[in-house]
Amino acid sequence: MSGNAACGAAVKADGYGLGARDVVLRLAKAGCRDFFVATWAEAEPLLSLMGDASLSVLHGLTVADIQHATGSAARPVLNSAEQVKRWREHGQGRACDVMLDTGMNRLGLSPAQIAEGLLEGLVIDVLMSHLASADEDVALNARQRDAFVTMAAKVGARRLSLANSAGICLGQDYAFDLTRPGLALYGGVPRREAAGQIKQVVKIEAQIVQRRRVGAGDKVGYNATFTADRDHELAILNIGYADGYLRGFSRTGRARIAADFVPVIGSVSMDLTAILVDVAPYLREGDWVELDFDLPSASAQSGLSQYELLTTLGSRYRRDWR
Ligand SMILES: *Cc1c(COP(=O)(O)O)cnc(C)c1O
Repeated sequence: MSGNAACGAAVKADGYGLGARDVVLRLAKAGCRDFFVATWAEAEPLLSLMGDASLSVLHGLTVADIQHATGSAARPVLNSAEQVKRWREHGQGRACDVMLDTGMNRLGLSPAQIAEGLLEGLVIDVLMSHLASADEDVALNARQRDAFVTMAAKVGARRLSLANSAGICLGQDYAFDLTRPGLALYGGVPRREAAGQIKQVVKIEAQIVQRRRVGAGDKVGYNATFTADRDHELAILNIGYADGYLRGFSRTGRARIAADFVPVIGSVSMDLTAILVDVAPYLREGDWVELDFDLPSASAQSGLSQYELLTTLGSRYRRDWR
């Protein structure tokens, strides 16, 4: 969907919770040559995997970063006049990336700073900006794109980059030389146009710690939020909010059993979650059950964004790559 643009990858926040090293290895094998992390601490363990690929650090160059950045093969994405000054002093003439603010008012240089010649003489590889509302149909998208083109015309850079996952869905006008998806690589559906084109990437499974039967009037879990209306069969799974299966899934989450979905009942605990398994008398302690973690539907169930669902995935999962 990035058309003629190269497709990079945001692998910050430990590869959106999947494990940045594993993500980088696989995306590099698939041809990805441009990776983005937020901090130098995130960059450090990935550098040895880069080969001929490049790694950019989105937070740029704070005072504390100088010693990590000096001599590192990663490039800072310079966001402010102070960061530009620091790179001029410590960057030894190496290439950097630069973030322009085109209306999000988060990070980046302003049109006035560009007009003042702040970037003159810098060797810039990727000149980028970031869309605030690419997941919505609003006039701000085209305004940011136009502002980006205007500002970029005044700066010499090797490549231009604007689109995140949702921005890619806005079409070729937003692709420029390099796109920077994160969410969509991990199975997130950033805009409705992409529904059906993006496969689920992350599946989560939990193991049954105990099966039990409850009768009419019995209550289940913390604060007794579920009361059985009749006999029911439950399975207690070894997953909870400490695994990123947050309490938003209490009473709304569901598990996949054969072709059926069965509900989460009661409150999700730190390490345990109850599901109703009347339909599956064959399930035993130790069996594995898949929770519904298709990101758009899990987002609707939990009230969490697709991003939050991924980045809160806990460290107790064994991550199996297939
Ligand atoms: C996180 C991030 C991305 C990736 O965004 P998605 O919405 O996950 O595709 C791209 N660019 C920048 C500057 C980011 O911070």
